[in-house]
Amino acid sequence: MGMDLRSGSPYWLLKNGILETYPPLRKDTSSEVTVIGGGITGALIAHHLVESGAETLLLDRRDIASGSTAASTSLLLHETDIHLKDLVERLGERDGSRIYRMGLEAIDVIERLAGEGVEDCGFERKPCLYLASKRSHARELRDEYACRARLGFDVDYLEPRELEERFGLEGPGAILSRGNAQVDPFRLTHHLLGRLTSKGLRIHDRTGVIGFERERGRLSLVTDRGARVRTRKVVFATGYESQQFLKQRVGSLKTTFAVASEPLESLDGWPERCLLWETARPYFYLRSTPDRRALMGGADRRYSKGPVSATTIRRQARKIERRFRSLFPRIEMEIAHAWSGTFAETRDGLSYIGETPEFPDAFFALSYGANGITFAVVAGRILTDLCLGRTCPDAHLFRFDR
Ligand SMILES: Cc1cc2nc3c(=O)[nH]c(=O)nc-3n(C[C@H](O)[C@H](O)[C@H](O)COP(=O)(O)OP(=O)(O)OC[C@H]3O[C@@H](n4cnc5c(N)ncnc54)[C@H](O)[C@@H]3O)c2cc1C
Repeated sequence: MGMDLRSGSPYWLLKNGILETYPPLRKDTSSEVTVIGGGITGALIAHHLVESGAETLLLDRRDIASGSTAASTSLLLHETDIHLKDLVERLGERDGSRIYRMGLEAIDVIERLAGEGVEDCGFERKPCLYLASKRSHARELRDEYACRARLGFDVDYLEPRELEERFGLEGPGAILSRGNAQVDPFRLTHHLLGRLTSKGLRIHDRTGVIGFERERGRLSLVTDRGARVRTRKVVFATGYESQQFLKQRVGSLKTTFAVASEPLESLDGWPERCLLWETARPYFYLRSTPDRRALMGGADRRYSKGPVSATTIRRQARKIERRFRSLFPRIEMEIAHAWSGTFAETRDGLSYIGETPEFPDAFFALSYGANGITFAVVAGRILTDLCLGRTCPDAHLFRFDR
């Protein structure tokens, strides 16, 4: 069995219930490409593969979307945990700004996918405030703003007075950016996969992959139900459980916490229900839901094995609540649901997407970091190219041997 990817009561599971169950794999089968993992990353990769005409099979050891995806607060940010200024310093202007642009393009893709069909996946465009948590962070933030503005990103810098006048917020300064959004990640994953089955995608959930063998030039995946899958290529969209398949250590695990409030009566001092995050690490972050809840998170801790206790969830939720109250003293907020989830950070703040030397014909989509969902779209595009033997000009940015 896998890790405890989440504990407590994630809001999306309560809100949506079980949306769809797929049959487990009971007989041997074969496919050109097999995606392991049916969270938002696997769904977005399957989308790119199917649209490119690849015969695709998707397996998940759990129910679809019930891993980290169910726990995600799902702010869609084009900004990475690493400032653009620092990316530019490390990678140069072209590659640094390309990473932020890819984020914007990915959010456009999610907007289109969430809007196709009749299903409402709760996609909404939102302005986003990136707040200086302390006065001493304001200078760094101004430099970051200057870099983004110079490279053509749609941003404003708000000095304390403008922050107060336009957003009613007290703070040493903030970057206001456009292009970000929010979505219901559980519904989006189900919506995408459901539609893809009508385009030929085969899905088996509650079917775990426990081994790999090579037979006559093809991979053979061994499942916990005994049935095997013969496949030319395999994509690991196995989220935070992926490390077990890899020699290279790619991320350090953390436990993070999230809270959904009761629907808010007043939104006084939260204009446009903007997205908000801050310069402190770990940071507090905030969005809303279509039914007027505040959905927020932070209070990260070192990862420890096993389920997180109700007492720890309650304690960390109180920390998140206090930060909300300090920012929005005029809003009455009551905690409705609180939960924890595993996530991972990489050393340079960027996802790992691509091949590893120890695993021929296999590709990994480790869209780690705070904006894992946005970068899952990027993983879908890059890995589809690699699976189909095409070159992808963005692949070098996320390679394992970068
Ligand atoms: C509390 C919290 C808040 C977050 N907030 C944000 C946010 O605001 N914005 C954002 O972009 N990201 C956010 N993230 C990160 C984001 O949720 C993740 O990047 C994303 O959900 C990862 O999706 P995934 O499909 O890769 O992983 P998962 O959803 O975990 O899916 C992986 C799937 O692989 C399956 N699997 C694993 N091993 C096997 C195997 N051997 N055989 C078969 N199946 C297997 C698992 O069962 C699982 O369903 C947050 C994460 C948490 C925990």
